[in-house]
Amino acid sequence: MNYDVTIGLEVHAQLATNTKAWCNCAIETYAEENTKVCEVCSGQPGTLPVLNERARNFAVSLGLATDCKINNLSYFDRKNYFYPDLPKGYQITQFEVPVCEDGFLELSLEDGTNKKIGIERIQMEEDTGKSTHEGKSSLINLNRAGTPLVEIVGRPHIKNAVEAVAYLKKLHSILTYLGVSDGNLQEGNFRCDVNISLAPKGSTKLGTRTETKNLNSFRSVERLIAIEIERQAKILDSGKKVIQQTLGFDVDTAEIKVLRTKSDAHDYRYFPEPDLLPLIVDESLVDRLRTELPELPDVKKDRFMKTYKIPAYDADFLTSTRSLADYFEQAAKKYKGDEPKKVSNWIMVELFKNLNELNLPIERSPVSSNEIAELLNLVSQGDISGKMAKDVFQKMFDEGKSASQVVEELGLKQISDSGEIETIVENIIKNNSSEVTRYENGEKKLFGFFVGQVMKASRGQANPKLVNELLKKRLK
Ligand code: ZN
Ligand code: MN
Repeated sequence: MNYDVTIGLEVHAQLATNTKAWCNCAIETYAEENTKVCEVCSGQPGTLPVLNERARNFAVSLGLATDCKINNLSYFDRKNYFYPDLPKGYQITQFEVPVCEDGFLELSLEDGTNKKIGIERIQMEEDTGKSTHEGKSSLINLNRAGTPLVEIVGRPHIKNAVEAVAYLKKLHSILTYLGVSDGNLQEGNFRCDVNISLAPKGSTKLGTRTETKNLNSFRSVERLIAIEIERQAKILDSGKKVIQQTLGFDVDTAEIKVLRTKSDAHDYRYFPEPDLLPLIVDESLVDRLRTELPELPDVKKDRFMKTYKIPAYDADFLTSTRSLADYFEQAAKKYKGDEPKKVSNWIMVELFKNLNELNLPIERSPVSSNEIAELLNLVSQGDISGKMAKDVFQKMFDEGKSASQVVEELGLKQISDSGEIETIVENIIKNNSSEVTRYENGEKKLFGFFVGQVMKASRGQANPKLVNELLKKRLK
């Protein structure tokens, strides 16, 4: 490729408030169509919006968590456009001065390096209703109209799809750690617009960009970036120019379609929203929200590495969502063995293999953090072997039983009674007298043979450490 790629991402995240941004209508994703609607959010003449303070606090918390400057005074503006699911004929947003500005996210990339991606601004705004197209007619549901959003405008510091996905995952995890958004991708509560431009390698000027709207999975962002880079490179290779366009991406067919050609800020005839007061965020509110911030993923990651002595890779994986981090930490606290790394291994390998097969999130794991800790305690106490633990775990996951229940049912408990093992050892020695003679004449590698025989006779249940000790004592 003869081009430098520049990518900038804009994310819209739905704020997890109970009610809408400017009215008291409840936010309920699955409510019957047009039942969560009032005069305000359906844009009736003469109604006035009143700001939801919780939404404001959420936006400020996000700004603090992403190292933004918080503006003590910011403003709402109207972005005018006509669309059937936008009943007022404009969207209330922030244009001139947003509530938060000039922050960054730090990514830890797979090659072990870190990269800062700038955040230009975080603005408060509202969502539209939802149109459903059926044949020649369209249906409008206004339940979502007026739902509070934050738009997080990233700086064009991203060079490829890997960085783009890492940025989105990081932002998603911060939003969910804060509880500011549920981050539900399927519902479109976290969606992304991707700006891409190509310029000749080494060029100081950016190329013409396209903006692809409303991608709602990490995977689709990754695919869109690959396809759009290739499309633009082909155009430039043939000597033509990329046109500034707003695009849509069909995830099923991987097709890019043109939504509209050129849309600049002036197309929207922005002007100050006269119905809302300026947004005041005084320092005492900023201080209070700062002290209320929870432990964020990066800090948690470092703490996990130190407290539980797990490698960076594990800590990164385990802190990717707050629920997963809580799951690990609860299990690690209940675990009585001396290698917490075992806990992270079991979660990352056995548990996730099973969860992924059924497409289950950690919140719905059939094996709880207490139960996985109980299983690992049985291993560290020598009650069952690590190998048996895998079978026990599978039954726990499939049948929803506890570790001790499964161990009992399968009769798997390790034999740690030395009397019982001694009897087996005696029998093995009696029945293998020629091997005993050879061993005692110096063929020491036969020791493994005796261990194997004892384990076999105990159906794998004898405690291997005890078997070794007793055999050593018995054989000269
Ligand atoms: Zn309403
Ligand atoms: Mn927006």
